[in-house]
Amino acid sequence: SPALVWFRDDLRLADNPALAGALAEGRPPILLYVLDEETPGRETPGRRSLGAAARWWLGRSLAALAADIARIGGRLVLRRGPADRVVREVVREAGVACVHWNRRYEAGAIALDRHLKAELTAGGVDVTSHSGTLLHEPWTLRTRSGGPYRVFTPFYRAAASLGVRAPLPVPARLAPGPELPGDDLDDWRLEPREPDWAGGLRAAWQPGEAGGRAALVEFLDRGLHGYAERRDRPDGAHTSRLSPFLRSGNLSPVQALAAVEHAAEAGEAQARDVEKFRSELYWREFSYHLLFHHPELATANLNARFDAFPWRDDAGFVHAWQRGLTGYPIVDAGMRQLWQTGWMHNRVRMICASFLVKHGLVDWRHGEAWFWDTLVDADPANNPASWQWVAGSGADAAPYFRIFNPVTQGETFDPDGRYVRHFVPELAGMPANLVHKPWQATPEVLARAGVTLGTSYPRPIVELAAARERALDAYRRSGGK
Ligand code: FAD
Repeated sequence: SPALVWFRDDLRLADNPALAGALAEGRPPILLYVLDEETPGRETPGRRSLGAAARWWLGRSLAALAADIARIGGRLVLRRGPADRVVREVVREAGVACVHWNRRYEAGAIALDRHLKAELTAGGVDVTSHSGTLLHEPWTLRTRSGGPYRVFTPFYRAAASLGVRAPLPVPARLAPGPELPGDDLDDWRLEPREPDWAGGLRAAWQPGEAGGRAALVEFLDRGLHGYAERRDRPDGAHTSRLSPFLRSGNLSPVQALAAVEHAAEAGEAQARDVEKFRSELYWREFSYHLLFHHPELATANLNARFDAFPWRDDAGFVHAWQRGLTGYPIVDAGMRQLWQTGWMHNRVRMICASFLVKHGLVDWRHGEAWFWDTLVDADPANNPASWQWVAGSGADAAPYFRIFNPVTQGETFDPDGRYVRHFVPELAGMPANLVHKPWQATPEVLARAGVTLGTSYPRPIVELAAARERALDAYRRSGGK
């Protein structure tokens, strides 16, 4: 009787503890992916359905995984429906003896897995869950008083002292498993057809395990050197761009960390670059720690004082922000990078989020939902944790009164305007000293650059000083000090 591997957020063959665990059983393997869209919705914490960009990524990743599996002699079985029902069906159909999966951390997923494990075990099937998505399981880290962490630095100190296992190899061959009927990936329609808005995504990304490996190699060759200093600059390829691969499990954090540490040991990387990169991976761990201990991370303020915050309802503002038409070049460049490529540089994510929440006084949940739908790395932990961090309502959050000025942020981190010119081509002809504030240019400069404010490029949607005062006033009125 066969061993079942249920793939979820771990769409890879290398360093996959569930797959390795199943193969170690010495039984014919069944490799299964279940598309569960039956019980979505924000009303059940942890059962959010994927956004559009993440669905695109999933479709491509599954195609890559199926091909990688076929190459070593196996077959990926695709089924659709409520995951617990589908897994039970496959177990029954094939007379499965044992099931292996890598753990998930959203409350709804945990509940489903727990329930299913209890049921299968009661029916005489062995179920083993593994750690395949994080460096450390969230419950293994506790403060001295026994509670979860709410501050990053002590969390990092405690987590980084634990040591991380070595990555597992790719299986060389897969023994043939039983022939089971499955769906055709094309029928799932994970990729858009009409309209096909995914051209920019296709040009920017190669989802799947080979794509993740290539991105890691590229980062080791080019991005890692100087990462600590330049990771805040959106006007170049200074970060790893590994986030969508980590999100879908095309690559594991264990693999990423091991590769970077190996480069350091070989004398090919600077200690401070490696340290900075390691700490960013631990921000991901910290987000998952928060999600595990606060299942409503995407819907409820971690800091309840924000529950009475006087957010504004302004569909026009939200729409201009989404489309990159706010009149603030760095914000517009970021929002257009997101729309075109499904990804945005971290510094610009912070600027765009702060602009929506503070200058726009729009509830962070609207921004979080837009990112959820448009990011290829849309992550159930990183996305809400980061939005709450920017909004000031989160754990270890930026204080509310720290309001990013999009002009000075643009001038500091995109000093020549290269990033803005690329994503906001209407401003390509602006001189560097005015590209982040075209409204300050004289009519002659604008004419020379071919810019007509209000026509070819919008005027600023809010006045920064007034919007800042409005935000601080709202914060004071809601009980903030
Ligand atoms: P690198 O700098 O190369 O970092 C390496 C890895 O570390 C990343 O791939 C990521 O997994 C992790 N990491 C880096 N920065 C952070 C961070 N601040 N918080 C948590 N993990 C981090 N990241 C997501 O993966 N998914 C999201 O949905 C997401 N939403 C965000 C929303 C907002 C408003 C903000 C401010 C940040 C968000 N981030 C999110 C975090 C961060 O912006 C991205 O992880 C990063 O930009 C990815 O690019 P990279 O892989 O080149 O990063």
